[in-house]
Amino acid sequence: MKAVFLGPPGAGKGTVAAQAKDYFKVPHISTGDLFRYNIKNETELGKQVKSILASGGLVPDSVTIAMVKERIAEPDCKDGFILDGFPRTIPQAEALEEMTELDHVLNLVISNEEVVQRLSGRRMCPSTGRIYHVLFNPPKVEGKDDETGEDLIQRDDDKEEAIKHRLEVYNAQTEPLIDFYRKKNLIRDVKTSNNMKPDEVFACVVKALS
Ligand code: ADP
Ligand code: ADP
Repeated sequence: MKAVFLGPPGAGKGTVAAQAKDYFKVPHISTGDLFRYNIKNETELGKQVKSILASGGLVPDSVTIAMVKERIAEPDCKDGFILDGFPRTIPQAEALEEMTELDHVLNLVISNEEVVQRLSGRRMCPSTGRIYHVLFNPPKVEGKDDETGEDLIQRDDDKEEAIKHRLEVYNAQTEPLIDFYRKKNLIRDVKTSNNMKPDEVFACVVKALS
């Protein structure tokens, strides 16, 4: 299965993808996680994109496209993949069309207010990337990862100013992709809200992609 997970920041793409990768037995490729990995390890790419991620802007298309092209050419992507956070612009979507043919584009639909609640309470484990929420999906021990016991962090771009900017960027650059893919009959809409448990959302996603 070759799928793209689309939706505003905080829609739950990463949370759903963490379950979907096991269910569909394909790798979960998050461009945000790839950039954060490079930043943490102080690679050339990491140095290049660090301030862009902190501000909530987008990494240039050429850099992002090259990184994804290399990743999906790896052997584990032979039978499919879940792309989470890519494409985010029309040029990225056009570049992806040149690389491969998609089966589904999941569109996670959520209100703006709920997205802000989700992002401001999001916490993550810096080494495993596991995602929590202080209210909606708290860890067993406050501030600690359930498995490794590591301290959870709040991403720099989950602070108020960056959240606002990221939502503007989403509306201007990424939302047009819904139309782009709808015209190709690839969009599978799934409504989500903070009243739905991640497992309920996941069940709807499985139905939409099967
Ligand atoms: P979220 O899960 O909140 O939507 P991500 O983890 O996907 O955020 O992305 C974090 C940041 O990484 C983005 O705000 C952007 O700076 C950068 N980024 C991730 N994917 C892309 C992309 N496809 N194109 C450009 N920048 C990207
Ligand atoms: P994205 O990858 O789209 O940016 P995440 O998967 O990181 O979104 O989720 C954003 C925040 O919302 C996280 O703190 C996560 O724990 C929380 N979250 C995810 N799914 C749900 C849900 N169904 N209900 C409430 N909160 C959720």
